[in-house]
Formats: sequence, structure tokens, C-alpha cells
Amino acid sequence: QWIYLNGEFVTKENAKISVYDHGFLYGDGIFEGIRVYSGNIFRMEEHMDRLYRSAKSIMLNMPHSKEEFTDLVVETVERNQLRDAYIRIVVSRGVGDLGLDPYKCPNANVVIIVEPLAIFPKELYERGLEIVTVATRRNRPDVLSPKVKSLNYLNNVLVKIEAHLANVSEALMLNDQGYVAEGSADNIFIVRGSTFLTPPGYVGALEGITRNAVIEIAGKLGYEVKEEPFTRHDVYTADEVFLTGTAAEVIAVVKVDGRVIGNGVPGEHTKNILKEFRAKVVADGIQ
Ligand code: PLP
Repeated sequence: QWIYLNGEFVTKENAKISVYDHGFLYGDGIFEGIRVYSGNIFRMEEHMDRLYRSAKSIMLNMPHSKEEFTDLVVETVERNQLRDAYIRIVVSRGVGDLGLDPYKCPNANVVIIVEPLAIFPKELYERGLEIVTVATRRNRPDVLSPKVKSLNYLNNVLVKIEAHLANVSEALMLNDQGYVAEGSADNIFIVRGSTFLTPPGYVGALEGITRNAVIEIAGKLGYEVKEEPFTRHDVYTADEVFLTGTAAEVIAVVKVDGRVIGNGVPGEHTKNILKEFRAKVVADGIQ
């Protein structure tokens, strides 16, 4: 396995960063997760755009142009000779002193890791997930925008801890007003009749690239899609619920806080979306 680290390709053992890196000290940095399907990088441009938007929002100077960065990612994938994989890009503020001041960090640290992805087991896609809602709240969009995919993932980590404590593999965060925001690393959709609902960005969710792909697919399949705030009650009483994300793809949810969703098995509309999504991922690559 070859890891890109600041201009070099190094082995996993040699991929090391200083303890003075501000990503480590303060979570000062950004990241992206991207899938490779059959040698195609899925929606590379959208991921690069989001990475550069995140950088701009926190005033992080990217050491490469978007085009150069894209080439580096492609090269890292090629060097690892993996046809199906997960790419993790991390750009931290870089090495500074122990103070917070980002102006004392002259160079960002850039890491690109490509490795096989261990997703949920196949049978979970057939059976559907059981999830809970948790006490951890999504940060307010006006405080630190959830649209920034930053290295500050503490509330997402707390969601995972709460999920473990409840013996389930994923959980939902609400925002400070009690509207449903998103999972620890995935967006949520609920289905009512032939209408799909997903929370709008202002509720406090990352603008997921899988979410965007699903909105497009659902539109093409003739479903109505609305970006609209909803509450836990709406989730409990939905016909179908599913989550979307780079790692999770599209996965049905069959129980939320003990309430059985629909018939307790992945619904027909969710299955349609997953089928189309799988067909699309191969068609959409750039390599
Ligand atoms: N929400 C959060 C907090 C995430 O970290 C992710 C993962 O990337 C998502 C949603 C899903 O976004 P995407 O589909 O772009 O992976």
C-alpha cells in the first residue's frame, strides 16, 4: 500500500506526521472520502469542489490547484492497483507551535490513503438497519457549518458511542431545534407514498454527494423529492427510511427508536434507488 504524503509516496509504516500538526492538536483541517468502483473514481469533481469549499471556509491554503490535486488522487489510486476502494484525503493546517494560531503553520500537510473498504456486511443491506436517535446534537449551521467537512468530528464520534451503547450500528442526530439532521457519516431520506423527503442543508447536515446522486436518481425514476425539515415523528411514521453516504451507499433502515418502519423490511422504493445507484456508480467514473 502506497500513501501519498506531502509530495512522496510512502509505505504505511513510514506515513508519519509531527505531533505539532494542528490537525492533531486542534482538529484544524479538512477531509474527503471518495469511492472507487471498478477502477472509476465516483464523482471526483464534486468531491474536489467540496474539499476546496471546505478549505476556503476555514481559510486553509491548499498547496495545489484543484487540477493538480485531482491528478495526485488518480496517481495514488493507480499506484495501489485497487479496482474497488475507498480514498481518504486529509489536509491539515500543518505544523505550527503549541498555540492555536494558524498563521504560524506555513505549510498544510496533505495525505491521500487508498484502501479496500470494509462496509456494512451484505446481509445488512438485505435486512436493513436498526438505528436510534441520540442526545448529541448537530452543531448549528451558523456556528461551524456542517457543510465544512472538517477534522472536528467529535459530535459524530459521540453519535457512534451512543449507537454502540444502544447496541446498534448507526444513529441519528437532531439539530438544536429537534429537527432530524443526519447520521454520524450519512444523510437521511424518508419516503411517504411516492415522495422522498431529506433535510435541507440549513437544518444542519453535510451536503452529501451520495445524497445529491440519490436526489437525481429519484427524480429520474419519477419520484417527487423535497428538501424539507422533519421531526422524529415523521421518521417513525414514514413508509420507508434509508441512509446515504460514500461508505454506506444506500442502506435501508427498518427500525428507529424501537418503532418498526413500514413492514420492517427494506421497502420497494429504497430497493429501486439502491439498484439504480449501483448501476450509476460504474457509469459515472472519470478514469
Ligand atoms: N454526513 C456526514 C457528517 C458525513 O461525514 C458524510 C460522509 O461523507 C455524509 C453525511 C455523507 O456524505 P457523502 O455522501 O458525500 O459521503
